[in-house]
Amino acid sequence: MQPLGTPFPRNPAPTVGNLPNSQAVPGGGKLTARVEAMRCMGCALCLNLCPVQAITLNLTAVVDQELCIGCSACVSACPNQAITLAQGATR
Ligand code: SF4
Ligand code: SF4
Repeated sequence: MQPLGTPFPRNPAPTVGNLPNSQAVPGGGKLTARVEAMRCMGCALCLNLCPVQAITLNLTAVVDQELCIGCSACVSACPNQAITLAQGATR
């Protein structure tokens, strides 16, 4: 038992390259985020959570497929389930 006042240990912040859900797919591809525009309400929550700034807002969220590392942070955060991970996603 730790004495009162002992700081609670925190996990180190993830950095690009060791994110737990970074998704490499056999065959050289990768999983990246895809936005279903009809479900996106433009709340910008995902933009602020993306660790590599791969998402921009153009009425709806748009994912830069080159930058996305497939960490799934945006998938978990979206209140409208507008984002999924897919191989070879185009948007
Ligand atoms: S969190 Fe979801 S609803 Fe909000 S901007 Fe991103 S994709 Fe759209
Ligand atoms: S999965 Fe979402 S949060 Fe993660 S890098 Fe790709 S766009 Fe950004």
